[in-house]
Amino acid sequence: MTTDLWALRREVCALHAELVRNNLVAWTSGNISARVPGEDLMVIKASGVSFDDLTPEAMVVCDLQGTVVEGDLSPSSDTFTHAYVYREMAHVGGIVHTHSGYATAWAARGEEIPCVLTAMADEFGGPIPVGPFALIGGEEIGHGIVETLAGHRSPAVLMRSHGVFTIGDTAHAAIKAAVMCEDVARTVHLTRTLGDPIPLEQEEIDALYDRYQNVYGQR
Ligand SMILES: [Zn+2]
Repeated sequence: MTTDLWALRREVCALHAELVRNNLVAWTSGNISARVPGEDLMVIKASGVSFDDLTPEAMVVCDLQGTVVEGDLSPSSDTFTHAYVYREMAHVGGIVHTHSGYATAWAARGEEIPCVLTAMADEFGGPIPVGPFALIGGEEIGHGIVETLAGHRSPAVLMRSHGVFTIGDTAHAAIKAAVMCEDVARTVHLTRTLGDPIPLEQEEIDALYDRYQNVYGQR
């Protein structure tokens, strides 16, 4: 095994702690994968392993058809979904999947989260869209994700009646999108309990998105 692959297995393993720390997962649901830079390979969590028991050995290396290349365990049941997205979206370096509660409540209603907060305009550049219902196991979910996110600013999609998939340049960026998605899903839900949220104008959304993506933070 090359040192790079082992380092990536360690890194993806450690990143799973963020899902637990941010209360995005229950029991064994939820997973993270990362593309192996420069190769048609990815590292993904093994299927059905509890977050407390995750070790780098429980990270599986697969090719982008979903076939195991390295690792002793079976990969996540979402492996074909992740593989499909990496094949179709060359800029994606990391993918996160969760059933986080507030965001999945919107997914269960098949309702997009409207862009009514500056934090949403910053990170998502508009509403968080809903993808089609699809059965788990094959590539159908991957199709739905790519079809929904292609040409969309949002790095998050609510797959109907299922949960959240987020993409990023890196696995770390995809985790950030998953955390932010749950946070805004909760806030917009709370807003709805108070009354009607006030929509943001498209120019305001565009200005916020541009500032956050290009100016905000440390350069
Ligand atoms: Zn799922």
